[in-house]
Amino acid sequence: MSTPGAAYRGAREELPRRRINDAFRHRHPDDELYLRQALETGLTGTAPIVEQYERKISELYGMRHVLAVSSGAVAVSVALEGIGWQVGDEIIVPPSCPICTVLPIMARGLVPVFCDVRPHEFGLDPEDLARVMSPRTRGIIEVPMWGYPSRADELRTLAHSHGVPLILDLAHCHVTRLRGKWLAEFGDIACFSTHEGKFMSTGEGGFVMTNDASRDAKMRAYTRFGNLDGQRVGLNYKLGGLQAAVGLARLQALDWQLEVRARNRQYLLERIHNPLVRELPIVEGGAINGYALLMQVVKGDGRRFVEHLDRNGVPSDVKKYDNQPLYNYPLLADRRRDCKNARELLRSLTTIPLHPRLSDEELQHIVATVNAYEG
Ligand SMILES: *Cc1c(COP(=O)(O)O)cnc(C)c1O
Repeated sequence: MSTPGAAYRGAREELPRRRINDAFRHRHPDDELYLRQALETGLTGTAPIVEQYERKISELYGMRHVLAVSSGAVAVSVALEGIGWQVGDEIIVPPSCPICTVLPIMARGLVPVFCDVRPHEFGLDPEDLARVMSPRTRGIIEVPMWGYPSRADELRTLAHSHGVPLILDLAHCHVTRLRGKWLAEFGDIACFSTHEGKFMSTGEGGFVMTNDASRDAKMRAYTRFGNLDGQRVGLNYKLGGLQAAVGLARLQALDWQLEVRARNRQYLLERIHNPLVRELPIVEGGAINGYALLMQVVKGDGRRFVEHLDRNGVPSDVKKYDNQPLYNYPLLADRRRDCKNARELLRSLTTIPLHPRLSDEELQHIVATVNAYEG
């Protein structure tokens, strides 16, 4: 046991073989009830069940306008419709977000401009923002990841001082909070995904919210062929009635999800005693939703940590993103702009599942695996 290698092998042998499932397929006891209601009252995107779903989300968030749409990617595209721009204008995004946020920007003929994040945070860095702002900047999209809030309050003030609207892509941050409010409240427009892999699932789906009636009117028209009035372009991006029905059932389980996920996080943090890793710090005044636990190596290469976890059956979302800033993809190579904080953040991190289907044995396995990491 004198060499680190021997100790490492010893530690690994003690870990039982298992593979933790990170896909949480939610079923709610009321799924069928609402699906039946949808079958009886209509399945289109303008059926009463969809309005009911939008109203419930609006009540939950205290936001005046909620628009249910067919996916999270569409939510981003529709949010862009809520701000004014011309083809070739620029939208600022962090390079630490999934490509799902950036493709809708490009698909509309807008140009994504990468701005670095703050050290150890997914929120945009104000100093770098000042560098990348240009006369062609028409919007800023903040993308807080895995349920951890960003300082969207400060960013909103800053964006508005430049006369630019703030869009929050909260695909990961349904019911994430900041300073006693929903994180969503700090966006001029906030968009969400309800894909099955996200915090709350309707299979496929998403929604967009704003307090601004004129933004809402533009966005709504865009999702229904420009209201078919032949005066503007639009497509059909409505959420269907079946998805809205499932959403209505599952909106009732948000508190339950928050509770179980918080309990799982506490269980893990109380038992993880490895000086090489820590939870990513939560911004002051923030409250996470428990979508995932973000763990960060405090020294060394985080990719080794991700590989150690993966070898031992603890899955990582970060591994799917390959721990890399977006400008490393061929499609975005011409937008390359080295962003040191984003690069280092992604390279230091992994996600650990917290979903409500994790068993005690699985939680114990996660603890043992994290504690066995030796750098
Ligand atoms: C998943 C995701 C999207 C896309 O959502 P879909 O419902 O899969 O289209 C957009 N932005 C972020 C940050 C996401 O995580």
